Amino acid sequence: MTTHCCEAMSSHVNAGCDQHDDPFDCPDALVHFSAKFQEYGLIVHDGGTAGITIDFCPWCGRRLPASQRDRWFDELERRGIDPWEDEVPVEFQDDRWLASPQQE
Ligand SMILES: [Zn+2]
Ligand SMILES: [Zn+2]
Repeated sequence: MTTHCCEAMSSHVNAGCDQHDDPFDCPDALVHFSAKFQEYGLIVHDGGTAGITIDFCPWCGRRLPASQRDRWFDELERRGIDPWEDEVPVEFQDDRWLASPQQE
């Protein structure tokens, strides 16, 4: 489990809704946290999965962790996995891959 910068952020990120499994379908959902990329985004409710990545927490103002998106692709490439073509390993579908030893 990722620890978020403040309680407001945690409650928004973890806000479950019993009517919508997907936060993009839920009009009450504001923030989406991508565990695999460590990215925070504001949900744009245009019927798709659009989001605006944010660098600072709207509630406490703290800088959010750096995005790991580039590293995610690098790590998969190092394993010879093409995320568009191949099956992405389970640990790469959430934040578990970040615990794997970093190689230079
Ligand atoms: Zn909802
Ligand atoms: Zn915060």
